[in-house]
Amino acid sequence: MATTALNKSTKAIILVSCTKRLAVRYFTTQLTEKQLDIQKTVRNFTNEQLKPYAAKLDREGRYPYKEIKKLADVGFMGACVDPEYGGLGYDYLSLALAVEEVSRGCASTGMLLSIHNFLYANLVNEKGTPEQKEMFLRNFTQGCIGCFALSEPDAGSDVANIGTTATKDGDHWIINGKKSWVTSAIEGSATVVFATFDSALRHKGIVCFLVPLDCEGVFRGKKEEIMGVRAATACTLTLEEVRVPNSYVVGQPGEGFKIAMGQLDQARIGIAAHAVGISQAALDTAISYAKQRVAFGKSLSRLPSVQDRLTEMSVMVETSRLLTYRAATQVMTKNSAMAKYVAGRNAAAVADHCVQIMGGNGLSTKYNAERHYRDARGTQIYGGVTDIQKRLVGHFLLKEHDAL
Ligand SMILES: Cc1cc2nc3c(=O)[nH]c(=O)nc-3n(C[C@H](O)[C@H](O)[C@H](O)COP(=O)(O)OP(=O)(O)OC[C@H]3O[C@@H](n4cnc5c(N)ncnc54)[C@H](O)[C@@H]3O)c2cc1C
Repeated sequence: MATTALNKSTKAIILVSCTKRLAVRYFTTQLTEKQLDIQKTVRNFTNEQLKPYAAKLDREGRYPYKEIKKLADVGFMGACVDPEYGGLGYDYLSLALAVEEVSRGCASTGMLLSIHNFLYANLVNEKGTPEQKEMFLRNFTQGCIGCFALSEPDAGSDVANIGTTATKDGDHWIINGKKSWVTSAIEGSATVVFATFDSALRHKGIVCFLVPLDCEGVFRGKKEEIMGVRAATACTLTLEEVRVPNSYVVGQPGEGFKIAMGQLDQARIGIAAHAVGISQAALDTAISYAKQRVAFGKSLSRLPSVQDRLTEMSVMVETSRLLTYRAATQVMTKNSAMAKYVAGRNAAAVADHCVQIMGGNGLSTKYNAERHYRDARGTQIYGGVTDIQKRLVGHFLLKEHDAL
Protein backbone atom coordinates (compact mmCIF):
# COMPACT_ATOMS: atom_id res chain seq x y z
CA MET A 1 0.00 0.00 0.00
CA ALA A 2 2.71 2.40 1.11
CA THR A 3 4.65 1.68 -2.07
CA THR A 4 1.57 2.35 -4.26
CA ALA A 5 0.86 5.64 -2.44
CA LEU A 6 4.47 6.65 -2.83
CA ASN A 7 4.34 5.76 -6.50
CA LYS A 8 1.16 7.81 -6.97
CA SER A 9 2.62 10.90 -5.31
CA THR A 10 5.88 10.46 -7.18
CA LYS A 11 3.88 10.24 -10.40
CA ALA A 12 1.99 13.42 -9.45
CA ILE A 13 5.24 15.26 -8.75
CA ILE A 14 6.65 14.10 -12.08
CA LEU A 15 3.44 15.18 -13.85
CA VAL A 16 3.45 18.65 -12.27
CA SER A 17 7.14 18.99 -13.00
CA CYS A 18 6.64 17.93 -16.64
CA THR A 19 3.71 20.34 -17.06
CA LYS A 20 5.87 23.18 -15.73
CA ARG A 21 8.66 22.19 -18.09
CA LEU A 22 6.20 22.15 -20.96
CA ALA A 23 4.86 25.57 -20.01
CA VAL A 24 8.39 26.91 -20.16
CA ARG A 25 9.56 24.97 -23.19
CA TYR A 26 6.52 24.35 -25.35
CA PHE A 27 5.91 26.66 -28.30
CA THR A 28 4.04 26.43 -31.57
CA THR A 29 4.96 28.39 -34.69
CA GLN A 30 1.43 28.22 -36.07
CA LEU A 31 0.02 31.65 -36.98
CA THR A 32 -3.77 32.02 -36.95
CA GLU A 33 -5.72 32.89 -40.12
CA LYS A 34 -6.14 36.41 -38.78
CA GLN A 35 -2.41 36.79 -38.10
CA LEU A 36 -1.59 35.50 -41.59
CA ASP A 37 -4.01 38.07 -42.99
CA ILE A 38 -2.37 40.88 -40.99
CA GLN A 39 1.06 39.74 -42.18
CA LYS A 40 -0.10 39.73 -45.79
CA THR A 41 -1.77 43.14 -45.55
CA VAL A 42 1.32 44.77 -44.03
CA ARG A 43 3.62 42.95 -46.45
CA ASN A 44 1.70 44.40 -49.42
CA PHE A 45 1.62 47.85 -47.82
CA THR A 46 5.39 47.69 -47.23
CA ASN A 47 6.20 46.54 -50.75
CA GLU A 48 4.12 49.30 -52.32
CA GLN A 49 4.38 52.22 -49.89
CA LEU A 50 7.66 51.84 -48.01
CA LYS A 51 10.33 49.76 -49.73
CA PRO A 52 10.60 51.96 -52.84
CA TYR A 53 11.17 55.11 -50.75
CA ALA A 54 13.26 53.80 -47.82
CA ALA A 55 16.69 54.59 -49.30
CA LYS A 56 15.65 58.18 -50.10
CA LEU A 57 14.19 58.75 -46.63
CA ASP A 58 17.42 57.43 -45.12
CA ARG A 59 19.62 59.54 -47.39
CA GLU A 60 17.67 62.71 -46.61
CA GLY A 61 17.17 61.84 -42.92
CA ARG A 62 13.53 62.73 -43.42
CA TYR A 63 10.93 61.65 -40.84
CA PRO A 64 8.34 59.39 -42.56
CA TYR A 65 5.29 61.50 -41.64
CA LYS A 66 3.27 60.48 -44.66
CA GLU A 67 4.02 56.79 -44.11
CA ILE A 68 3.16 56.97 -40.40
CA LYS A 69 -0.12 58.68 -41.27
CA LYS A 70 -0.95 55.88 -43.71
CA LEU A 71 -0.22 53.31 -40.99
CA ALA A 72 -2.50 55.26 -38.65
CA ASP A 73 -5.24 55.31 -41.30
CA VAL A 74 -5.29 51.50 -41.32
CA GLY A 75 -5.19 51.33 -37.52
CA PHE A 76 -1.60 50.22 -36.92
CA MET A 77 -0.69 53.17 -34.68
CA GLY A 78 -3.03 51.60 -32.14
CA ALA A 79 -2.62 47.96 -33.14
CA CYS A 80 -3.14 46.51 -29.63
CA VAL A 81 -5.33 49.34 -28.34
CA ASP A 82 -8.90 48.73 -27.28
CA PRO A 83 -11.26 49.46 -30.25
CA GLU A 84 -13.20 51.78 -27.90
CA TYR A 85 -10.26 54.19 -28.23
CA GLY A 86 -9.79 53.71 -31.96
CA GLY A 87 -7.41 50.74 -31.87
CA LEU A 88 -7.50 47.34 -33.55
CA GLY A 89 -7.40 45.26 -30.36
CA TYR A 90 -4.72 42.91 -31.77
CA ASP A 91 -2.43 40.68 -29.71
CA TYR A 92 1.32 41.36 -29.38
CA LEU A 93 2.26 38.76 -31.99
CA SER A 94 0.11 40.51 -34.60
CA LEU A 95 1.84 43.81 -33.80
CA ALA A 96 5.25 42.09 -33.94
CA LEU A 97 4.37 40.71 -37.39
CA ALA A 98 3.51 44.23 -38.54
CA VAL A 99 6.75 45.69 -37.11
CA GLU A 100 8.77 42.94 -38.80
CA GLU A 101 7.18 43.55 -42.20
CA VAL A 102 7.43 47.34 -41.99
CA SER A 103 11.09 47.12 -40.86
CA ARG A 104 11.86 44.85 -43.81
CA GLY A 105 10.82 47.68 -46.12
CA CYS A 106 11.96 50.68 -44.08
CA ALA A 107 13.85 50.16 -40.82
CA SER A 108 13.25 53.73 -39.65
CA THR A 109 9.47 53.48 -40.04
CA GLY A 110 9.52 50.05 -38.37
CA MET A 111 11.37 51.42 -35.37
CA LEU A 112 8.94 54.33 -35.03
CA LEU A 113 5.95 52.00 -35.30
CA SER A 114 7.43 49.72 -32.66
CA ILE A 115 8.25 52.46 -30.13
CA HIS A 116 4.95 54.32 -30.53
CA ASN A 117 2.95 51.11 -29.98
CA PHE A 118 4.95 49.01 -27.54
CA LEU A 119 6.27 51.84 -25.38
CA TYR A 120 3.51 54.45 -25.52
CA ALA A 121 0.10 53.33 -26.81
CA ASN A 122 0.16 49.93 -25.07
CA LEU A 123 1.23 51.54 -21.79
CA VAL A 124 -1.66 54.03 -21.81
CA ASN A 125 -4.07 51.35 -23.02
CA GLU A 126 -3.09 48.87 -20.29
CA LYS A 127 -2.27 51.18 -17.37
CA GLY A 128 -4.16 54.43 -18.03
CA THR A 129 -7.37 55.63 -16.38
CA PRO A 130 -10.42 56.29 -18.63
CA GLU A 131 -9.65 60.02 -18.36
CA GLN A 132 -6.01 59.47 -19.39
CA LYS A 133 -7.09 57.29 -22.31
CA GLU A 134 -9.47 59.98 -23.52
CA MET A 135 -6.70 62.60 -23.47
CA PHE A 136 -3.55 60.58 -24.22
CA LEU A 137 -4.77 57.66 -26.33
CA ARG A 138 -7.74 58.36 -28.58
CA ASN A 139 -5.91 60.79 -30.91
CA PHE A 140 -2.77 58.68 -30.69
CA THR A 141 -4.40 55.83 -32.58
CA GLN A 142 -5.28 58.28 -35.35
CA GLY A 143 -1.92 59.91 -36.18
CA CYS A 144 -0.66 61.80 -33.11
CA ILE A 145 2.67 60.31 -32.06
CA GLY A 146 3.58 59.23 -28.53
CA CYS A 147 7.03 58.94 -26.94
CA PHE A 148 8.75 57.28 -23.99
CA ALA A 149 11.27 59.33 -22.01
CA LEU A 150 13.20 57.10 -19.62
CA SER A 151 16.91 57.42 -20.58
CA GLU A 152 18.98 60.32 -19.31
CA PRO A 153 22.48 61.59 -20.06
CA ASP A 154 23.71 59.92 -16.83
CA ALA A 155 21.28 56.99 -16.64
CA GLY A 156 20.71 54.66 -19.58
CA SER A 157 20.95 50.99 -18.61
CA ASP A 158 20.98 52.01 -14.93
CA VAL A 159 17.31 53.02 -14.84
CA ALA A 160 17.00 53.23 -11.03
CA ASN A 161 19.59 56.02 -11.11
CA ILE A 162 17.47 58.57 -13.01
CA GLY A 163 17.92 62.15 -11.83
CA THR A 164 14.77 63.84 -13.20
CA THR A 165 12.85 64.99 -10.14
CA ALA A 166 9.13 65.17 -9.36
CA THR A 167 8.02 67.38 -6.49
CA LYS A 168 4.46 67.31 -5.17
CA ASP A 169 2.75 70.72 -5.05
CA GLY A 170 -0.83 70.37 -3.80
CA ASP A 171 -2.74 68.41 -6.42
CA HIS A 172 0.03 69.02 -8.99
CA TRP A 173 3.60 67.82 -9.58
CA ILE A 174 6.60 69.87 -10.72
CA ILE A 175 9.02 67.99 -12.97
CA ASN A 176 12.65 69.05 -13.57
CA GLY A 177 15.38 67.22 -15.47
CA LYS A 178 16.82 66.14 -18.78
CA LYS A 179 15.91 63.09 -20.85
CA SER A 180 18.03 61.82 -23.72
CA TRP A 181 17.38 59.92 -26.92
CA VAL A 182 13.62 60.43 -26.90
CA THR A 183 12.42 58.89 -30.16
CA SER A 184 9.90 61.03 -32.08
CA ALA A 185 9.93 63.81 -29.45
CA ILE A 186 10.41 66.37 -32.23
CA GLU A 187 7.25 65.22 -34.01
CA GLY A 188 5.35 63.79 -31.02
CA SER A 189 2.40 65.24 -29.13
CA ALA A 190 2.86 63.59 -25.72
CA THR A 191 5.35 61.47 -23.84
CA VAL A 192 5.62 59.12 -20.92
CA VAL A 193 8.16 60.60 -18.45
CA PHE A 194 9.79 58.81 -15.54
CA ALA A 195 11.01 60.92 -12.59
CA THR A 196 11.98 60.35 -8.97
CA PHE A 197 10.23 61.89 -5.96
CA ASP A 198 13.00 60.60 -3.65
CA SER A 199 16.28 59.50 -5.20
CA ALA A 200 17.33 57.79 -1.94
CA LEU A 201 14.54 55.27 -2.56
CA ARG A 202 16.16 54.39 -5.94
CA HIS A 203 13.70 52.25 -7.97
CA LYS A 204 10.99 52.55 -5.29
CA GLY A 205 10.90 56.35 -5.67
CA ILE A 206 10.03 56.53 -9.38
CA VAL A 207 6.78 58.04 -10.73
CA CYS A 208 5.43 57.57 -14.26
CA PHE A 209 3.78 60.63 -15.83
CA LEU A 210 1.99 61.42 -19.07
CA VAL A 211 3.13 64.83 -20.31
CA PRO A 212 1.84 66.78 -23.33
CA LEU A 213 4.87 67.93 -25.30
CA ASP A 214 3.44 71.42 -25.68
CA CYS A 215 3.42 71.89 -21.87
CA GLU A 216 5.13 75.03 -20.64
CA GLY A 217 8.71 74.20 -19.64
CA VAL A 218 9.23 71.32 -22.10
CA PHE A 219 12.11 72.01 -24.52
CA ARG A 220 13.04 69.70 -27.39
CA GLY A 221 16.69 69.41 -28.46
CA LYS A 222 18.04 69.00 -31.99
CA LYS A 223 17.75 65.73 -33.89
CA GLU A 224 20.64 63.38 -33.01
CA GLU A 225 22.62 62.45 -36.13
CA ILE A 226 23.12 58.69 -36.01
CA MET A 227 24.55 55.99 -38.30
CA GLY A 228 21.37 53.96 -38.80
CA VAL A 229 17.57 54.37 -38.86
CA ARG A 230 18.37 57.85 -40.12
CA ALA A 231 14.80 58.75 -41.06
CA ALA A 232 13.73 58.27 -37.43
CA THR A 233 14.46 61.04 -34.95
CA ALA A 234 15.62 61.11 -31.34
CA CYS A 235 16.51 64.15 -29.25
CA THR A 236 17.00 65.38 -25.71
CA LEU A 237 14.04 66.70 -23.78
CA THR A 238 14.62 69.31 -21.11
CA LEU A 239 11.93 69.70 -18.46
CA GLU A 240 12.05 72.97 -16.52
CA GLU A 241 9.45 73.46 -13.80
CA VAL A 242 6.90 71.47 -15.81
CA ARG A 243 3.63 71.53 -13.86
CA VAL A 244 1.24 68.63 -14.39
CA PRO A 245 -1.89 67.61 -12.45
CA ASN A 246 -1.98 64.51 -10.29
CA SER A 247 -4.35 62.98 -12.83
CA TYR A 248 -1.41 62.64 -15.26
CA VAL A 249 0.31 60.11 -12.97
CA VAL A 250 0.11 56.53 -14.29
CA GLY A 251 -0.45 54.02 -11.47
CA GLN A 252 0.78 55.12 -8.06
CA PRO A 253 3.88 57.19 -7.19
CA GLY A 254 6.59 54.58 -6.53
CA GLU A 255 5.29 52.19 -9.19
CA GLY A 256 7.18 53.88 -12.03
CA PHE A 257 10.09 51.44 -12.11
CA LYS A 258 7.77 48.43 -12.30
CA ILE A 259 5.79 50.11 -15.08
CA ALA A 260 8.99 50.92 -17.00
CA MET A 261 10.30 47.36 -16.69
CA GLY A 262 6.99 45.85 -17.82
CA GLN A 263 6.97 48.14 -20.84
CA LEU A 264 10.58 47.30 -21.68
CA ASP A 265 9.59 43.62 -21.81
CA GLN A 266 7.21 44.63 -24.59
CA ALA A 267 9.72 47.00 -26.22
CA ARG A 268 12.22 44.14 -26.57
CA ILE A 269 9.66 42.13 -28.52
CA GLY A 270 9.19 45.14 -30.81
CA ILE A 271 12.90 45.74 -31.36
CA ALA A 272 13.49 42.01 -31.88
CA ALA A 273 10.77 42.01 -34.57
CA HIS A 274 12.36 45.14 -36.07
CA ALA A 275 15.73 43.33 -36.15
CA VAL A 276 14.12 40.30 -37.85
CA GLY A 277 12.71 42.61 -40.54
CA ILE A 278 16.13 44.19 -41.17
CA SER A 279 17.76 40.71 -41.32
CA GLN A 280 15.18 39.50 -43.82
CA ALA A 281 15.79 42.59 -45.97
CA ALA A 282 19.55 41.90 -45.92
CA LEU A 283 19.01 38.24 -46.83
CA ASP A 284 16.65 39.15 -49.70
CA THR A 285 19.13 41.75 -50.97
CA ALA A 286 21.99 39.23 -50.87
CA ILE A 287 20.04 36.49 -52.68
CA SER A 288 18.88 38.81 -55.45
CA TYR A 289 22.41 40.11 -55.97
CA ALA A 290 24.04 36.66 -55.84
CA LYS A 291 21.61 35.34 -58.45
CA GLN A 292 22.29 38.06 -60.99
CA ARG A 293 26.01 38.71 -60.47
CA VAL A 294 28.36 36.57 -62.59
CA ALA A 295 31.87 35.66 -61.41
CA PHE A 296 34.23 32.99 -62.79
CA GLY A 297 31.69 32.25 -65.52
CA LYS A 298 28.74 31.48 -63.30
CA SER A 299 26.24 33.13 -61.01
CA LEU A 300 27.63 34.04 -57.56
CA SER A 301 24.80 32.01 -56.05
CA ARG A 302 26.39 28.84 -57.46
CA LEU A 303 29.64 29.35 -55.55
CA PRO A 304 29.77 27.06 -52.49
CA SER A 305 31.18 29.80 -50.25
CA VAL A 306 28.34 32.16 -51.19
CA GLN A 307 25.74 29.43 -50.70
CA ASP A 308 27.31 28.73 -47.35
CA ARG A 309 26.92 32.38 -46.35
CA LEU A 310 23.30 32.44 -47.53
CA THR A 311 22.59 29.32 -45.50
CA GLU A 312 24.15 30.86 -42.39
CA MET A 313 22.10 34.00 -42.95
CA SER A 314 18.80 32.16 -43.34
CA VAL A 315 19.44 30.06 -40.21
CA MET A 316 20.04 33.26 -38.26
CA VAL A 317 16.91 34.95 -39.63
CA GLU A 318 14.74 31.92 -38.82
CA THR A 319 16.21 31.54 -35.31
CA SER A 320 15.55 35.19 -34.54
CA ARG A 321 12.04 34.95 -35.91
CA LEU A 322 11.14 31.90 -33.82
CA LEU A 323 12.46 33.47 -30.62
CA THR A 324 10.64 36.72 -31.38
CA TYR A 325 7.31 35.02 -32.07
CA ARG A 326 7.69 33.01 -28.89
CA ALA A 327 8.46 36.15 -26.90
CA ALA A 328 5.36 37.83 -28.36
CA THR A 329 3.22 34.81 -27.45
CA GLN A 330 4.65 33.95 -24.03
CA VAL A 331 5.45 37.36 -22.61
CA MET A 332 8.08 37.13 -19.89
CA THR A 333 11.37 38.90 -19.32
CA LYS A 334 13.58 35.93 -20.18
CA ASN A 335 11.83 35.34 -23.50
CA SER A 336 11.87 38.97 -24.63
CA ALA A 337 15.49 39.52 -23.50
CA MET A 338 16.59 36.34 -25.32
CA ALA A 339 14.71 37.34 -28.47
CA LYS A 340 16.19 40.84 -28.49
CA TYR A 341 19.69 39.61 -27.77
CA VAL A 342 19.66 36.97 -30.52
CA ALA A 343 17.73 39.02 -33.09
CA GLY A 344 20.01 42.06 -32.63
CA ARG A 345 23.20 40.02 -32.82
CA ASN A 346 21.93 38.08 -35.85
CA ALA A 347 20.77 41.22 -37.66
CA ALA A 348 24.30 42.65 -37.45
CA ALA A 349 25.83 39.36 -38.63
CA VAL A 350 23.34 38.85 -41.48
CA ALA A 351 23.84 42.43 -42.71
CA ASP A 352 27.61 41.88 -42.56
CA HIS A 353 27.32 38.74 -44.75
CA CYS A 354 25.14 40.74 -47.17
CA VAL A 355 27.85 43.41 -47.56
CA GLN A 356 30.48 40.71 -48.09
CA ILE A 357 28.48 38.86 -50.76
CA MET A 358 28.09 42.12 -52.67
CA GLY A 359 31.81 42.94 -52.61
CA GLY A 360 32.57 46.57 -53.49
CA ASN A 361 28.92 47.18 -54.23
CA GLY A 362 28.17 46.14 -50.65
CA LEU A 363 29.92 49.31 -49.52
CA SER A 364 28.34 51.52 -52.16
CA THR A 365 25.51 53.86 -51.21
CA LYS A 366 23.95 53.03 -54.62
CA TYR A 367 22.89 49.68 -53.12
CA ASN A 368 20.90 48.79 -50.01
CA ALA A 369 23.45 46.53 -48.26
CA GLU A 370 25.28 49.34 -46.46
CA ARG A 371 21.94 50.76 -45.21
CA HIS A 372 20.92 47.39 -43.79
CA TYR A 373 24.36 47.16 -42.16
CA ARG A 374 23.95 50.58 -40.51
CA ASP A 375 20.30 49.94 -39.55
CA ALA A 376 21.10 46.56 -37.99
CA ARG A 377 23.66 47.89 -35.50
CA GLY A 378 21.31 49.97 -33.37
CA THR A 379 19.07 47.00 -32.58
CA GLN A 380 21.73 45.92 -30.05
CA ILE A 381 21.47 49.27 -28.27
CA TYR A 382 18.02 50.91 -28.21
CA GLY A 383 15.39 49.07 -26.19
CA GLY A 384 18.23 47.95 -23.87
CA VAL A 385 21.82 46.98 -24.69
CA THR A 386 22.74 43.38 -25.52
CA ASP A 387 24.92 43.06 -22.40
CA ILE A 388 21.88 43.72 -20.18
CA GLN A 389 19.73 41.26 -22.18
CA LYS A 390 22.33 38.53 -21.55
CA ARG A 391 22.36 39.31 -17.82
CA LEU A 392 18.55 39.10 -17.71
CA VAL A 393 18.54 35.75 -19.51
CA GLY A 394 21.16 34.40 -17.10
CA HIS A 395 19.22 35.61 -14.07
CA PHE A 396 15.88 34.11 -15.12
CA LEU A 397 17.46 30.94 -16.46
CA LEU A 398 18.77 30.11 -12.99
CA LYS A 399 15.48 31.04 -11.30
CA GLU A 400 13.55 28.91 -13.78
CA HIS A 401 15.86 25.99 -13.17
CA ASP A 402 15.32 26.24 -9.40
CA ALA A 403 11.55 26.11 -9.97
CA LEU A 404 11.63 22.95 -12.10
C1 LIG B 1 18.35 55.69 -31.86
C2 LIG B 1 18.05 55.59 -30.39
C3 LIG B 1 16.76 55.74 -29.95
C4 LIG B 1 16.46 55.67 -28.60
N1 LIG B 1 15.18 55.88 -28.17
C5 LIG B 1 14.91 55.96 -26.84
C6 LIG B 1 13.60 56.32 -26.39
O1 LIG B 1 12.67 56.55 -27.16
N2 LIG B 1 13.41 56.43 -25.05
C7 LIG B 1 14.39 56.19 -24.14
O2 LIG B 1 14.14 56.30 -22.93
N3 LIG B 1 15.65 55.82 -24.54
C8 LIG B 1 15.92 55.72 -25.87
N4 LIG B 1 17.19 55.39 -26.30
C9 LIG B 1 18.23 55.18 -25.33
C10 LIG B 1 18.66 53.73 -25.21
O3 LIG B 1 17.63 52.97 -24.62
C11 LIG B 1 19.97 53.69 -24.43
O4 LIG B 1 20.96 54.22 -25.28
C12 LIG B 1 20.32 52.31 -23.96
O5 LIG B 1 19.42 51.84 -22.99
C13 LIG B 1 21.72 52.25 -23.37
O6 LIG B 1 21.94 53.26 -22.45
P1 LIG B 1 23.24 54.18 -22.59
O7 LIG B 1 23.33 54.68 -23.99
O8 LIG B 1 23.21 55.17 -21.50
O9 LIG B 1 24.45 53.18 -22.40
P2 LIG B 1 25.09 52.72 -20.99
O10 LIG B 1 24.03 52.34 -20.05
O11 LIG B 1 26.06 53.73 -20.58
O12 LIG B 1 25.84 51.40 -21.46
C14 LIG B 1 26.98 51.46 -22.31
C15 LIG B 1 27.60 50.09 -22.40
O13 LIG B 1 28.08 49.72 -21.09
C16 LIG B 1 27.88 48.32 -20.87
N5 LIG B 1 26.98 48.14 -19.72
C17 LIG B 1 26.26 49.09 -19.06
N6 LIG B 1 25.60 48.55 -18.02
C18 LIG B 1 25.89 47.25 -18.01
C19 LIG B 1 25.51 46.16 -17.17
N7 LIG B 1 24.72 46.31 -16.10
N8 LIG B 1 25.99 44.94 -17.47
C20 LIG B 1 26.82 44.75 -18.53
N9 LIG B 1 27.22 45.75 -19.35
C21 LIG B 1 26.76 46.97 -19.10
C22 LIG B 1 27.29 47.77 -22.17
O14 LIG B 1 28.34 47.30 -22.99
C23 LIG B 1 26.64 48.97 -22.80
O15 LIG B 1 26.51 48.83 -24.19
C24 LIG B 1 17.49 55.41 -27.67
C25 LIG B 1 18.81 55.24 -28.13
C26 LIG B 1 19.10 55.33 -29.47
C27 LIG B 1 20.52 55.17 -29.91
